[in-house]
Amino acid sequence: MLAQWLKESKHTVVFSGAGMSTESGIPDFRSKQGLWRHKDPTKLASTYALMHNREEFVQFYQSRIETLSQYGPHAGHERLATWEKEGLINYIITQNVDHFHQQAGSVHVAELHGTINRLRCQGCEKEYPGTRYLQAGGTICTCGQFLRPCVVLFGEALPKEALRAAERETLCADLFIVLGSSLQVSPANFFPQLAKQNGATLVIINMEPTPLDGIADLVIHDRKIGDVLAEIDQKL
Ligand code: NAD
Repeated sequence: MLAQWLKESKHTVVFSGAGMSTESGIPDFRSKQGLWRHKDPTKLASTYALMHNREEFVQFYQSRIETLSQYGPHAGHERLATWEKEGLINYIITQNVDHFHQQAGSVHVAELHGTINRLRCQGCEKEYPGTRYLQAGGTICTCGQFLRPCVVLFGEALPKEALRAAERETLCADLFIVLGSSLQVSPANFFPQLAKQNGATLVIINMEPTPLDGIADLVIHDRKIGDVLAEIDQKL
């Protein structure tokens, strides 16, 4: 059914969350193996930690950047990039900060929560590759100010450009596919609801139930995204 919908749709938007990258080896936030099981996000990935708990803030992001540098996109990310080239999907809205969609070759991507792939100076706004955080003295800009990852911290607003692009694409979508998101983070979870209200067919592929399952036209639980995408690919 989903393969047919993909072929027939005129504007397909994919909305991905942390579950998209667990098959790459990156833990998500909220499922049983998730990153937040042992750490408090409001303490580490927050504006409060950036200002008042900088040592732990830096350690947390050094560890995330190191992990991400050891992994990369999986076949599911690559399949989405191929589908974009083939005109089957038009846009990806992602909550992920790992940059894996672009690494796999996807071009039209809105990163709602920014990217860990880059650092920005809090003083002069100069940008650097994220891996600079792993070098000695790598948290300081050449101007002497602190460098922070270009991610959206708890307590910060989402980037305007990504939000605008996400809204524009959602309103164009006649097929909207959620991949690996608990849909608990607001305002990101607004987009699947907006798509549905605007008449799109809503598909949710997530291991566990989500609060938006009741309004979706198709829900797939208990299956890995990579396996579902591979099966669809065979039917295209
Ligand atoms: P979440 O952790 O709240 O939910 C992830 C969902 O994915 C879970 O419900 C889980 O059941 C499902 N899932 C996990 N692996 C799956 C798989 N292989 N197949 C199908 N479903 C699978 O994540 P979220 O909704 O994206 O929300 C949270 C925040 O997490 C975002 O702000 C995002 O920036 C951040 N985050 C990003 C990364 C990353 O960039 N890779 C990693 C962790 C967290």
